[in-house]
Amino acid sequence: MMGAAAAVIIALVYWIWRNSAGSKATTKVGRMVQPVKCPICQSDIFVGENLISKVFRPMNVPDQLMIVMGCPHCYPTCEPGVKRTCPVCHKEIGPDQSLTARLFNKQLGKKHVHVVGCSNCHRPRAD
Ligand SMILES: [Zn+2]
Ligand SMILES: [Zn+2]
Repeated sequence: MMGAAAAVIIALVYWIWRNSAGSKATTKVGRMVQPVKCPICQSDIFVGENLISKVFRPMNVPDQLMIVMGCPHCYPTCEPGVKRTCPVCHKEIGPDQSLTARLFNKQLGKKHVHVVGCSNCHRPRAD
């Protein structure tokens, strides 16, 4: 049986980036700061909004498997004009499909999310 997989923890992963306060463009910031966008629908995500995602156990490893369902703009229902596409294969993905991502828990409480693909172009390992 998939005992370990049964212990799925549903978590709301806050898409927090170190944006400076205020909503001014951060294009001049020289570091890796990018505009905060939903990886599925490319909607802007503001601090306080979050992606709907599931993070799989264990929680204490630096590299976790994560499923991203979407952001409030595209999940559970798409807002008008919002399109859900995979950032890896650029195909449209349905409302019941998700992205597979890896969540790197760095020290200092900073999280980094790397999208691996959608359920069309990437299949999570079935242990
Ligand atoms: Zn979205
Ligand atoms: Zn894909």
